[in-house]
Amino acid sequence: MRDLKTEKLSKNAVDFIDDALLEGLLDNARPDKARVREIIAKSLNKEPLSLVETADLLAADEPELVDEIFAAARELKRKVYGNRIVLFAPLYIGNKCVNDCRYCAFRRSNENAIRRTLSHDEVRQQIEALENVGHKRLILVFGEHPDYNADYVAEIVRLVYSVKVGHGSIRRVNINAAPLNHDEFKKVKQAGIGTYQIFQETYHHETYAKMHPSDTRKGDYLWRLDGLNRAMEAGLDDIGIGALFGLTDWRFEVLGLVSHSLYLQERYGVGPHTISFPRLRPAGGVNLGEDYLVGDYDFKRLVAILRLSVPYTGMILTAREEPELRREVMAFGVSQIDAGSRIEIGGYTEAGDAQVMEREQFTLGDIRSLDEIVHELLSDEYIPSWCTACYRLGRTGEHFMEFAIPGFIKQYCTPNALSTLTEYLVDYASDETRTAGEKTIRTELDKLPDSPQKTELISRLKRIRETDDRDLYF
Ligand code: SAM
Ligand code: SF4
Repeated sequence: MRDLKTEKLSKNAVDFIDDALLEGLLDNARPDKARVREIIAKSLNKEPLSLVETADLLAADEPELVDEIFAAARELKRKVYGNRIVLFAPLYIGNKCVNDCRYCAFRRSNENAIRRTLSHDEVRQQIEALENVGHKRLILVFGEHPDYNADYVAEIVRLVYSVKVGHGSIRRVNINAAPLNHDEFKKVKQAGIGTYQIFQETYHHETYAKMHPSDTRKGDYLWRLDGLNRAMEAGLDDIGIGALFGLTDWRFEVLGLVSHSLYLQERYGVGPHTISFPRLRPAGGVNLGEDYLVGDYDFKRLVAILRLSVPYTGMILTAREEPELRREVMAFGVSQIDAGSRIEIGGYTEAGDAQVMEREQFTLGDIRSLDEIVHELLSDEYIPSWCTACYRLGRTGEHFMEFAIPGFIKQYCTPNALSTLTEYLVDYASDETRTAGEKTIRTELDKLPDSPQKTELISRLKRIRETDDRDLYF
């Protein structure tokens, strides 16, 4: 096992989270009506908010103002992202772990956890099962362990891309794993990964120290906070941040996420590609008390405020949440969700519908199938999308202006969403979902202005229906 003392941090690495400053902003926030409305207007103008402005929104708890914040988040989502929702699935590769995070069932001191790492054949079987229901985008999840080093992660990524059944293929593999050093990030990038996610879990130093014993790798706050800087220096410019809500005051964590985002933007000219905001779930042997658990109402507030503060960052809502809440929160600016998820190791072929505590990291709130979720999205007038075009065409990082270029959505995102939806309907959907999907496609095509590109799109959709041609994107 390597020694963190000899590892190199990024150039001029600093711990840019100042707890006293963030707490001061929360204590001195000014949530009066005029001020809150002024901040909302700035955000609707698609300008990122400062920490002070975010703190003011966090302090606004009058129901009338909270409703205005919700309404603004809904409007901004429509303005910036349109009605697409990108779908993915998590794939847990192995749960061996040298860390002892107090909230996680994979922690090393949990003797009840059944430790397992998928063999190559088992990975293949999981991928086949995922492709057979229509998935195209995955996030691979690993515990932190010497067995899961960068060479291993890269090998698994290549394996995943190589598996193809029928018209199925995995076109984008994201990673959620431990922070790496520069050379290791380069290795996983070479394997063709999309986003590398590292959640800080909690930005609050004292809480961080309580949750992550100091004699563990994850006990080093700065090594983790600096992780994505090393990724950027290694040329991996597609990165995701996140906080695990339920460990300390949720308002503090929102300021932590916004600080992180502003820091990356300032230092590299590009912010995080995605923000995740998982809420703590029941997990084997975990009992952290209820002091900081975030209720549904506050959860909605935090999602809406994040949307307003970082208007151009993708937001990921996971199946940790129950179906009804997911449906509601989706409208506040979520751009990606997982669907049909199983998080037991081997869960896509083995576990059936039951969730088995000893085999998973935590329990999920939404275990509906991909088809059920696609059907619900269509009924709610979203376009389910499996688009992977931007990252495959190199439209990432500072060159990636997806949401800043006027017309980008009409030019690329909607056509690509409709192509991937057509693939799904032809190859995998139930009859009911196919009917709903065809209706959505007609409606969305009607909304697109006539152009040579629209003609080309219509001809491509026909090719997908009538031939084996797939993976056509702009
Ligand atoms: N082991 C790597 C790490 O810790 O960075 C990879 C990620 S871990 C397997 C995935 C994420 O699950 C963690 O970053 C944490 O935020 C989240 N998680 C852990 N325990 C959880 C729980 N009880 N409820 C909800 N999310 C949890
Ligand atoms: Fe290990 Fe990650 Fe779980 Fe912590 S959160 S115990 S590092 S798997």
